[in-house]
Amino acid sequence: MSTNIELPTISHLNDEKVALTYNGDLTSHLLALLLIEKYGVENVVFLLNLPKSFSKISGSVVADDKYEKIKSNFLQGIEKLNGSLIVENGDDLIDQHYKIFDKMKAKVEEKFKNVKYYFGAESIRDTETLSFLVSSGWSTGERIYNELLDFLEEHKTDYPELYNYTTNFYKKPPVLPSAGLDYINRKYFYDSYTKPFINLTEVEIVALYKEFNLQDKIKDTISCHIMTENDHCQNCYRCQYRKYLLTQAGLT
Ligand SMILES: [Zn+2]
Repeated sequence: MSTNIELPTISHLNDEKVALTYNGDLTSHLLALLLIEKYGVENVVFLLNLPKSFSKISGSVVADDKYEKIKSNFLQGIEKLNGSLIVENGDDLIDQHYKIFDKMKAKVEEKFKNVKYYFGAESIRDTETLSFLVSSGWSTGERIYNELLDFLEEHKTDYPELYNYTTNFYKKPPVLPSAGLDYINRKYFYDSYTKPFINLTEVEIVALYKEFNLQDKIKDTISCHIMTENDHCQNCYRCQYRKYLLTQAGLT
Protein backbone atom coordinates (compact mmCIF):
# COMPACT_ATOMS: atom_id res chain seq x y z
CA MET A 1 0.00 0.00 0.00
CA SER A 2 1.24 3.45 -0.78
CA THR A 3 -0.65 6.62 0.00
CA ASN A 4 -0.01 9.63 -2.14
CA ILE A 5 -0.54 12.94 -0.39
CA GLU A 6 -0.96 15.64 -3.03
CA LEU A 7 0.55 19.02 -2.18
CA PRO A 8 0.29 22.00 -4.54
CA THR A 9 3.41 23.82 -5.71
CA ILE A 10 4.46 27.34 -4.77
CA SER A 11 6.67 29.85 -6.60
CA HIS A 12 10.02 30.34 -4.92
CA LEU A 13 10.72 33.12 -7.42
CA ASN A 14 7.87 35.11 -5.91
CA ASP A 15 8.89 34.15 -2.38
CA GLU A 16 5.60 32.37 -1.80
CA LYS A 17 4.93 30.59 1.47
CA VAL A 18 2.35 28.28 3.01
CA ALA A 19 0.69 28.47 6.42
CA LEU A 20 -0.38 25.62 8.67
CA THR A 21 -2.79 25.61 11.59
CA TYR A 22 -0.65 23.67 14.03
CA ASN A 23 -1.11 22.36 17.57
CA GLY A 24 1.71 19.85 18.07
CA ASP A 25 -0.67 16.88 17.98
CA LEU A 26 -0.13 13.73 15.88
CA THR A 27 -1.98 14.82 12.75
CA SER A 28 -0.88 18.44 12.46
CA HIS A 29 2.73 17.47 13.25
CA LEU A 30 2.70 14.91 10.45
CA LEU A 31 1.34 17.49 8.04
CA ALA A 32 4.05 19.92 9.20
CA LEU A 33 6.73 17.31 8.40
CA LEU A 34 5.30 16.80 4.90
CA LEU A 35 5.05 20.55 4.25
CA ILE A 36 8.61 21.13 5.43
CA GLU A 37 9.86 18.36 3.15
CA LYS A 38 8.00 19.84 0.18
CA TYR A 39 8.46 23.60 0.70
CA GLY A 40 11.39 24.00 3.11
CA VAL A 41 10.97 25.06 6.74
CA GLU A 42 11.80 28.66 5.79
CA ASN A 43 8.55 28.75 3.79
CA VAL A 44 6.16 27.29 6.37
CA VAL A 45 4.30 29.69 8.67
CA PHE A 46 2.89 28.08 11.84
CA LEU A 47 -0.46 29.39 13.06
CA LEU A 48 -1.70 29.15 16.60
CA ASN A 49 -5.40 30.00 16.67
CA LEU A 50 -6.12 30.25 20.35
CA PRO A 51 -8.73 32.76 21.41
CA LYS A 52 -9.13 32.33 25.17
CA SER A 53 -12.87 32.06 24.74
CA PHE A 54 -12.32 28.90 22.63
CA SER A 55 -10.59 27.07 25.45
CA LYS A 56 -13.42 27.64 27.91
CA ILE A 57 -16.14 25.12 28.34
CA SER A 58 -19.50 26.59 29.18
CA GLY A 59 -20.07 26.66 32.92
CA SER A 60 -16.44 26.13 33.94
CA VAL A 61 -13.86 28.66 35.04
CA VAL A 62 -11.41 30.00 32.48
CA ALA A 63 -8.78 27.32 32.10
CA ASP A 64 -5.56 29.32 32.24
CA ASP A 65 -3.54 26.13 32.68
CA LYS A 66 -5.11 24.61 29.60
CA TYR A 67 -4.40 27.74 27.61
CA GLU A 68 -0.75 27.68 28.66
CA LYS A 69 -0.45 23.97 27.88
CA ILE A 70 -1.88 24.33 24.36
CA LYS A 71 0.52 27.17 23.70
CA SER A 72 3.45 25.24 25.11
CA ASN A 73 2.58 22.17 22.97
CA PHE A 74 2.59 24.46 19.92
CA LEU A 75 5.99 25.97 20.75
CA GLN A 76 7.60 22.66 21.70
CA GLY A 77 6.49 21.06 18.44
CA ILE A 78 7.82 23.93 16.35
CA GLU A 79 11.14 23.77 18.15
CA LYS A 80 11.42 20.09 17.18
CA LEU A 81 10.65 21.06 13.58
CA ASN A 82 13.17 23.92 13.64
CA GLY A 83 10.39 26.25 12.59
CA SER A 84 10.71 29.98 13.12
CA LEU A 85 7.80 31.66 11.32
CA ILE A 86 4.92 31.99 13.76
CA VAL A 87 1.63 33.88 13.93
CA GLU A 88 -0.38 33.72 17.14
CA ASN A 89 -4.04 34.61 16.93
CA GLY A 90 -5.82 35.37 20.17
CA ASP A 91 -9.15 36.86 21.14
CA ASP A 92 -8.84 39.50 18.42
CA LEU A 93 -9.62 36.68 15.97
CA ILE A 94 -13.25 36.87 17.02
CA ASP A 95 -15.10 39.65 15.33
CA GLN A 96 -18.72 39.25 14.42
CA HIS A 97 -18.29 41.43 11.36
CA TYR A 98 -15.69 39.14 9.81
CA LYS A 99 -15.53 35.53 8.90
CA ILE A 100 -12.91 34.10 11.23
CA PHE A 101 -10.80 32.68 8.39
CA ASP A 102 -10.57 36.10 6.72
CA LYS A 103 -9.56 37.70 9.99
CA MET A 104 -6.82 35.11 10.46
CA LYS A 105 -5.63 35.55 6.89
CA ALA A 106 -5.44 39.32 7.33
CA LYS A 107 -3.33 38.87 10.45
CA VAL A 108 -0.99 36.47 8.67
CA GLU A 109 -0.62 38.83 5.73
CA GLU A 110 0.36 41.70 7.99
CA LYS A 111 3.47 39.69 8.77
CA PHE A 112 4.04 37.52 5.68
CA LYS A 113 3.03 38.92 2.32
CA ASN A 114 2.89 35.93 -0.02
CA VAL A 115 1.15 33.10 1.77
CA LYS A 116 -0.28 31.06 -1.08
CA TYR A 117 -2.02 28.18 0.73
CA TYR A 118 -3.48 27.62 4.17
CA PHE A 119 -3.23 24.02 5.32
CA GLY A 120 -5.14 22.09 7.93
CA ALA A 121 -4.93 18.45 9.09
CA GLU A 122 -8.69 17.90 8.92
CA SER A 123 -9.87 14.31 8.50
CA ILE A 124 -13.07 12.55 7.41
CA ARG A 125 -14.43 13.29 10.89
CA ASP A 126 -14.46 17.03 10.13
CA THR A 127 -16.52 16.45 6.99
CA GLU A 128 -18.86 14.18 8.95
CA THR A 129 -19.21 16.84 11.65
CA LEU A 130 -20.27 19.57 9.21
CA SER A 131 -22.73 17.23 7.58
CA PHE A 132 -24.04 16.20 11.00
CA LEU A 133 -24.56 19.82 12.05
CA VAL A 134 -26.74 20.35 8.98
CA SER A 135 -28.77 17.15 9.08
CA SER A 136 -29.35 17.39 12.83
CA GLY A 137 -30.84 20.86 12.37
CA TRP A 138 -28.19 22.50 14.60
CA SER A 139 -27.00 24.74 11.75
CA THR A 140 -30.40 26.39 11.49
CA GLY A 141 -31.19 26.41 15.19
CA GLU A 142 -33.87 23.72 14.90
CA ARG A 143 -32.07 21.46 17.35
CA ILE A 144 -30.41 22.55 20.56
CA TYR A 145 -27.01 21.52 21.87
CA ASN A 146 -28.35 19.09 24.47
CA GLU A 147 -30.26 17.11 21.85
CA LEU A 148 -27.27 16.48 19.59
CA LEU A 149 -26.02 13.31 21.28
CA ASP A 150 -29.44 11.67 20.92
CA PHE A 151 -29.55 12.56 17.24
CA LEU A 152 -26.06 11.15 16.75
CA GLU A 153 -27.03 7.91 18.50
CA GLU A 154 -30.03 7.55 16.19
CA HIS A 155 -27.95 8.18 13.07
CA LYS A 156 -24.62 6.65 14.08
CA THR A 157 -24.13 4.63 10.91
CA ASP A 158 -24.09 7.85 8.85
CA TYR A 159 -21.22 9.30 10.92
CA PRO A 160 -18.92 6.43 11.95
CA GLU A 161 -15.82 8.52 12.72
CA LEU A 162 -17.73 11.23 14.55
CA TYR A 163 -19.72 8.64 16.46
CA ASN A 164 -16.66 6.72 17.62
CA TYR A 165 -14.85 9.87 18.72
CA THR A 166 -17.85 11.42 20.43
CA THR A 167 -19.13 8.30 22.16
CA ASN A 168 -15.85 6.76 23.29
CA PHE A 169 -13.61 9.78 23.90
CA TYR A 170 -15.01 13.31 23.74
CA LYS A 171 -18.31 12.38 25.44
CA LYS A 172 -19.94 15.72 24.70
CA PRO A 173 -21.94 16.90 21.70
CA PRO A 174 -19.61 17.73 18.79
CA VAL A 175 -19.97 21.49 19.14
CA LEU A 176 -18.54 23.74 21.83
CA PRO A 177 -21.43 25.93 22.97
CA SER A 178 -19.03 28.68 24.02
CA ALA A 179 -16.97 28.70 20.82
CA GLY A 180 -19.28 31.22 19.19
CA LEU A 181 -18.75 29.86 15.72
CA ASP A 182 -21.95 29.62 13.77
CA TYR A 183 -22.37 27.04 11.03
CA ILE A 184 -21.74 29.48 8.17
CA ASN A 185 -18.44 30.55 9.72
CA ARG A 186 -17.43 26.93 10.34
CA LYS A 187 -18.25 25.92 6.79
CA TYR A 188 -16.36 28.88 5.36
CA PHE A 189 -13.36 28.02 7.51
CA TYR A 190 -13.48 24.42 6.32
CA ASP A 191 -13.86 25.37 2.66
CA SER A 192 -11.00 27.88 2.75
CA TYR A 193 -8.32 25.40 3.78
CA THR A 194 -6.21 23.00 1.77
CA LYS A 195 -6.81 19.65 3.48
CA PRO A 196 -4.48 16.89 2.21
CA PHE A 197 -5.84 14.32 4.73
CA ILE A 198 -9.53 14.99 4.21
CA ASN A 199 -10.33 11.57 2.74
CA LEU A 200 -8.59 9.70 5.54
CA THR A 201 -9.67 8.67 9.01
CA GLU A 202 -7.40 9.76 11.86
CA VAL A 203 -6.16 6.17 12.28
CA GLU A 204 -5.19 6.18 8.59
CA ILE A 205 -3.43 9.52 8.99
CA VAL A 206 -1.45 8.33 12.01
CA ALA A 207 -0.56 5.11 10.14
CA LEU A 208 1.27 7.32 7.62
CA TYR A 209 4.03 7.82 10.19
CA LYS A 210 4.93 4.19 9.54
CA GLU A 211 4.34 4.31 5.81
CA PHE A 212 6.55 7.39 5.42
CA ASN A 213 9.14 6.02 7.85
CA LEU A 214 8.62 8.85 10.34
CA GLN A 215 7.97 6.75 13.46
CA ASP A 216 10.85 8.43 15.31
CA LYS A 217 8.98 11.76 15.06
CA ILE A 218 5.99 10.56 17.09
CA LYS A 219 7.82 11.32 20.33
CA ASP A 220 7.95 14.99 19.25
CA THR A 221 4.15 15.27 19.33
CA ILE A 222 1.96 16.17 22.30
CA SER A 223 -1.79 15.59 22.45
CA CYS A 224 -2.67 16.40 26.06
CA HIS A 225 -4.10 19.75 27.21
CA ILE A 226 -3.69 19.03 30.93
CA MET A 227 -0.78 20.69 32.69
CA THR A 228 1.21 18.03 34.54
CA GLU A 229 4.90 17.30 35.03
CA ASN A 230 4.85 15.09 31.95
CA ASP A 231 3.72 15.99 28.46
CA HIS A 232 0.83 13.52 28.77
CA CYS A 233 -1.44 13.06 31.78
CA GLN A 234 -2.53 9.63 30.41
CA ASN A 235 -6.07 10.14 31.73
CA CYS A 236 -7.86 12.81 29.71
CA TYR A 237 -9.90 12.09 26.60
CA ARG A 238 -7.15 13.46 24.39
CA CYS A 239 -4.59 11.08 25.92
CA GLN A 240 -7.03 8.16 25.60
CA TYR A 241 -7.71 9.02 21.98
CA ARG A 242 -4.00 9.30 21.23
CA LYS A 243 -3.46 5.82 22.68
CA TYR A 244 -6.34 4.50 20.57
CA LEU A 245 -4.96 6.06 17.36
CA LEU A 246 -1.43 4.74 17.92
CA THR A 247 -2.68 1.26 18.80
CA GLN A 248 -5.07 1.08 15.84
CA ALA A 249 -2.33 2.31 13.51
CA GLY A 250 0.00 -0.41 14.80
CA LEU A 251 2.47 2.04 16.30
CA THR A 252 2.74 0.90 19.89
ZN1 LIG B 1 -4.04 14.05 28.97
